[in-house]
Amino acid sequence: MTTAQSPVDLVDLVDLEVQPTPLALLLLGREADPKSERGVECPGDLPSPSDPDLVERARAAKEKLGDKVFVLGHHYQRDEVIQFADVTGDSFKLARDAAARPDAEYIVFCGVHFMAESADILTGDDQKVVLPDLAAGCSMADMATAEQVAECWDVLTEAGIAEQVVPVSYMNSSADIKAFTGKHGGTICTSSNAKRALEWAYAQGDPASTKVLFLPDQHLGRNTAVRDMGFSLDDCVVYNPHKPNGGLTVEQLRDAKMILWRGHCSVHGRFSLESVEDVRARIPGVNVLVHPECKHEVVAAADYVGSTEHIIKTLEAAPAGSKWAIGTELNLVRRLANRFAAEGKEIVFLDKTVCFCSTMNRIDLPHLVWTLESLAEGNLVNQIQVDRETEQFAKMALERMLALP
Ligand code: SF4
Repeated sequence: MTTAQSPVDLVDLVDLEVQPTPLALLLLGREADPKSERGVECPGDLPSPSDPDLVERARAAKEKLGDKVFVLGHHYQRDEVIQFADVTGDSFKLARDAAARPDAEYIVFCGVHFMAESADILTGDDQKVVLPDLAAGCSMADMATAEQVAECWDVLTEAGIAEQVVPVSYMNSSADIKAFTGKHGGTICTSSNAKRALEWAYAQGDPASTKVLFLPDQHLGRNTAVRDMGFSLDDCVVYNPHKPNGGLTVEQLRDAKMILWRGHCSVHGRFSLESVEDVRARIPGVNVLVHPECKHEVVAAADYVGSTEHIIKTLEAAPAGSKWAIGTELNLVRRLANRFAAEGKEIVFLDKTVCFCSTMNRIDLPHLVWTLESLAEGNLVNQIQVDRETEQFAKMALERMLALP
């Protein structure tokens, strides 16, 4: 491993700063491809957002469904939705929580499309997973399509290195990408276990020649490799699916230890080094705590780095009077700020501008009411179903993750 940063890596990093992804501004609810994380138009006749009885209606429908329904709420969901969640957590915890409730006929997933897919993969055949708004996708998951990843594998095969490559895919990916990962001997990871997943992957062959193809979040891949595994930035290359051969030479591919897919989270990607410097100037003594989906320079400048679960635990354990600037989704940061204010902990959002995940925010009270009332009337709506073959291979990759030491 080397420590110098090559011009190629610098170009890749700079490139990321200035080029907005074509998916950054989602045409929400207007797409026609149900396989896309961008989803499709919601077919429902939704109640008006100004209906004063929405909370009561949601409560009544949930009560009528009783144990037949289990509502999952991702940490980034709105408060108006979270109040009806039976459990809250990150995507992996929620999929496991759903699998632990085989008696629930309906799993209502208040999150985004790939999360509902994972829940469908991990739950029983007779359980139905429902996403209250089909337009609740994830722009990061959409940045790696099955066709693009198959093409990438052809490039690696032609470069003569496919046999040395182990795919590691972030939970935030479509079922198709998880299936690709399972089929090619790889594993899924979360932001909590990415280091263990990489250690496992490099142990699958000769550690000197084994490479990892990390999908689809380049930042989590780079941050884990450099911060936790001692790799240099030179050990990582970025595969751009929009360029011939990923924009890489055969030599670059052969020399790399980490082949990072050029995907990122449009929410966490907004935090910058300036946000860190600015908050330190504004709040003396502040601790900066960020999610590993943030850019490498932000993670390098932060005091602490960790998954959403880690962020919550860190704040729970923080002493009264401590000050924190958090680099993750705004719904969660606001909820944590309110929760810990009474304990005298000052919690602020890392950036000055608001930074919600717009697709997570698609799930609102009218969608939840419509979903619960439909189910209570016996109408199954917005079911997310992964086909058998995809499920079989995706499950393989998920089970390798569950078996990680
Ligand atoms: S926060 Fe980022 S990774 Fe999570 S759902 Fe939204 S766009 Fe996807």
